[in-house]
Amino acid sequence: MNACLLDAPAAVETNPLDLAEAPVPEPRRGEVLVRVSACGVCRTDLHVVEGELPPRKSPVIPGHQVVGRIEKLGEAAGRHRVGARVGIPWLHQTDQTCEYCRAGMENLCDHPSFTGYTVDGGYAEYAVAPEDFVYSLPEPLSDEQAAPLLCAGIIGFRCLRLSGVKSGSRLAFYGFGAAAHVAIQVARAWGVEVYAATRGKKHQQLAAELGAVWVGEAADDPPVKLDAAIVFAPAGELVPPALKALKKGGVLILGGIHMSPIPSFDYDLLYGERSIRSVANNTRRDGEDFLREAARIPVRTQVQPYPLREANRALNDLKSDRVNGAAVLDCRK
Ligand SMILES: [Zn+2]
Ligand SMILES: [Zn+2]
Repeated sequence: MNACLLDAPAAVETNPLDLAEAPVPEPRRGEVLVRVSACGVCRTDLHVVEGELPPRKSPVIPGHQVVGRIEKLGEAAGRHRVGARVGIPWLHQTDQTCEYCRAGMENLCDHPSFTGYTVDGGYAEYAVAPEDFVYSLPEPLSDEQAAPLLCAGIIGFRCLRLSGVKSGSRLAFYGFGAAAHVAIQVARAWGVEVYAATRGKKHQQLAAELGAVWVGEAADDPPVKLDAAIVFAPAGELVPPALKALKKGGVLILGGIHMSPIPSFDYDLLYGERSIRSVANNTRRDGEDFLREAARIPVRTQVQPYPLREANRALNDLKSDRVNGAAVLDCRK
């Protein structure tokens, strides 16, 4: 099969992914083999490719928003049928035995594996995954449109959940990329008023089109105090302005897996029972609940497609803010 291989992390400007021939993986016990049609490009892929996340496998095939149809079942696998459309997410597998898994917090598992990082992912024509960790995907979204739901969508949903917003809440997004452009649709369906602080006219315009009541530059002050804010951009310098935008008791959620250092700030910004919380991965329950909600609303994704062989270009575009909505690889080309 064709696959994009990363031998060693490097700046994406050096085009570190090599399109190469690789063996089609064989599904092991409890796994399914998926013929990949589309794979979303996530900011986490950038962190894997550029080494902000320490390398865990070499070579590795990145990609953890994998959409395709099951082509083959491994031994004892029977939860999905051959031909079913499924999605393979970031959380590839957990041990299901550690204290976190037993407490219903498998997103914090002590011994997890991650798709496209510790095991091969979906920048390829085929991928394998444990059948218990793949999602059935709701119609009628196309494969390309469904791909960004699998990480951007689910993580954004978990951010919304942890933020505690409900109908009538005021919520700001800092950064308006793939996750925010989905989360705003969910937030609005819940009756939440959304404020978007983001650099780049295109991102601001998309936020306005999707119903933000206010758009501004990345560190601008929203015009009212907020119940919650979510920082999606990997920029620690946004934490103080986001805290400043909160009213007393407000919640600040940090949605990324990696963030540049957070500058020091006065205790006054946090005092008043404001809180800061990171989001790490998601549970399968988050994923299932989100996909049901996405089908109900229904969520529409804005997708910028690239052929598989141009994965380096997609990552470069993501890094330099040239993607509006979500970048998705067409793995059939
Ligand atoms: Zn565990
Ligand atoms: Zn991701």
